[in-house]
Amino acid sequence: MTAQEIIQQILPMPIQNIAISLYNTNLYRKRHAGIYASMREFYENCSRLSASEIHAEQQRKLAAFLKYATESSAWYAPCKGLELKDFPILEKRDVMENLDRIATIKESQAIVNLTGGTTGSSMKVLYTHADMQERFALIDTFRATYGYSLGKRVAWFSGKNLIQERDLTRGTFFRDDHINHIRFFSTFHISEKNFDAYWRALTEFDPEYIVGITTCVYDLCRMALERNLEFKGHLKAYFSTAETVLDVQKEVLEKTFGCPLVDQYASSEGAPFIFQCLHGSMHIHPLSGIFEVIDENMRPAREGEILVTSFTTHGTPLIRYRIKDRIRLAPDDFACSCGSCFPVVEHIDGRSTDFVLSVDGGRIASGNISNCTKGVEGIQCFQLLQERHDEVTVKMVCSNRFDTLQEAKFTNALHQRLGADMKIVIVRVPEIPRERSGKFRILKNSMAI
Ligand SMILES: [Zn+2]
Repeated sequence: MTAQEIIQQILPMPIQNIAISLYNTNLYRKRHAGIYASMREFYENCSRLSASEIHAEQQRKLAAFLKYATESSAWYAPCKGLELKDFPILEKRDVMENLDRIATIKESQAIVNLTGGTTGSSMKVLYTHADMQERFALIDTFRATYGYSLGKRVAWFSGKNLIQERDLTRGTFFRDDHINHIRFFSTFHISEKNFDAYWRALTEFDPEYIVGITTCVYDLCRMALERNLEFKGHLKAYFSTAETVLDVQKEVLEKTFGCPLVDQYASSEGAPFIFQCLHGSMHIHPLSGIFEVIDENMRPAREGEILVTSFTTHGTPLIRYRIKDRIRLAPDDFACSCGSCFPVVEHIDGRSTDFVLSVDGGRIASGNISNCTKGVEGIQCFQLLQERHDEVTVKMVCSNRFDTLQEAKFTNALHQRLGADMKIVIVRVPEIPRERSGKFRILKNSMAI
C-alpha cells in the first residue's frame, strides 16, 4: 500500500484534508522557489516587447537550448550544427527506449513525470526543478490575466482517484485543501445518481475559478441544464486542461457557469504552450518553444502535425519532438484584437475527446484511462472497447515484461476508474490498427451517446 492509499483508507476525512493541504503547500513551495519569481516578472513584462524583440529573444533561447543539449545529452552529442534543421526528429518511442541517453540529469535529481501517452503506452520524462518553476511561471502569468492567483478559491476536477468506497455511500466526492482554498473533486463519479451531491458541494464551496478535465465537467453541466439549474456564485473563469474543447462543450459550460471557458495547450511531457487570450484567440507562446507545422511529406505547412522544441525541458531535451498533435495556423495577416504579436492557432486536434462509461454511469475520459499504464511495465499500446455498460475488452500489445503481476497492477488501476464490478477482458494481440484518419484511438465506445 502506498502512503497515499494509507492516508485515503485509514485516516478520517478531516485528517485527510489536513494531509492534502500540507502536501499541496509543500508542492507549491517547491514550484515557487528558485527562478520562479524572476521568471514571473520576465513573462509579465514580455507582453510589452515588440515583435522583433520577441523574435530575437526566441532565437537567443533556442540557440542556448540547442547548445546545452549537444553539450549535456549523450543522445544529442553527435549533432554538430546549431540550427534546428540540423537536429533529428525525436519520436515518442525514442524517449521511451533511450531516456538514459537523452536525459541530462539523474532520476534522483529530477522531478519524475510519468505520463500515459495518448497511444496507450507509458512514458517517463525527467524535469529539472528550474524547468518546473519556469513552466509554472508561464502558466501562472497566463492565469493571472484572468485575475487568478494562488489562494483564490478554486474547484479542481482532476483525474486523480481521491476517494474510497465509504465516500460513495456518504455522497462525498471531494477533498479540501483549506490552506490554499482548493476543493479537489473526483472526476470518476460524476453521474445522474451522484449529480445532487456534486452540485451541492460545488455551490456550497462557491469557487472563483474551476480547473478541469472538460469532458467530465461538461457532463455535470449538461445534467444541470437538464434540471434548469444555472450556477449562482462568483465564478470568474473556467480553465480547461488536458484535451481539445468542443464547441458544444464550451457553449454548455459557459451557459451553466456564467463565466468564460479559457483554453490552453500543454502536455505533461513538457511541450511548449498555447494560451487563450482575453479576446478568445489561441496564441503560441514563442518564448516557451518552437512549433514546426509539417505536412505528410514532412515539409513546412500551415496545417498538419507538429514538431515541438520546448525550452523548459533541460532534464529531458525535447527537440523537434513528434508529439502526434495537429494544429492549423491562422493566416499571416491575421491580427488579434488583443494586440499581441504572438502567432495565432485556429485549431488544435489530437487530444482525444473519447470516453468510456463506468459501472455507475460516470464518463471516464481517455486521459484518465491512459494513466492506468503509469508504473506498469511491458505495455506497448492498448485499446479499450466498450459495448456493454458492465464489460470492457482491452486489446493489448505487450512485451514479455507484462507478466501476471503487471497485469494485476493494470487491471486494478482500471477497476479504480471504471468500478469494481466492471468485467475486464484482456486480449493480447500482435498489433492494433489505426483509424482511417491515421489517428490512434485508445478508447472506442459503441454504447455511449
Ligand atoms: Zn489575442
